[in-house]
Amino acid sequence: MSCTHTGEIKKNVSPRTPDGCEECLASGDEWVHLRLCLSCGHVGCCDSSKNKHATKHFHRSKHPIMRSLESGENWVWCFVDKDYVDL
Ligand SMILES: [Zn+2]
Ligand SMILES: [Zn+2]
Ligand SMILES: [Zn+2]
Repeated sequence: MSCTHTGEIKKNVSPRTPDGCEECLASGDEWVHLRLCLSCGHVGCCDSSKNKHATKHFHRSKHPIMRSLESGENWVWCFVDKDYVDL
């Protein structure tokens, strides 16, 4: 299955909050891993984190594509297809 949402990816998107999850930083919460929205640069926490802000960002914004912000991880994920994306 190939992703049809890669047109949503913006070039050279950079993390809006390089220090961590945007909402967790605001509320003082902790996260496990970080995900970067490739449409707007939102940084959210993964589904192993209690707040799941990356997934919440998708539901709110409909931005479909994110990638891992963890060093050593370079996978890209499409929330709509629920599958990894080959770029
Ligand atoms: Zn897709
Ligand atoms: Zn968070
Ligand atoms: Zn976004």
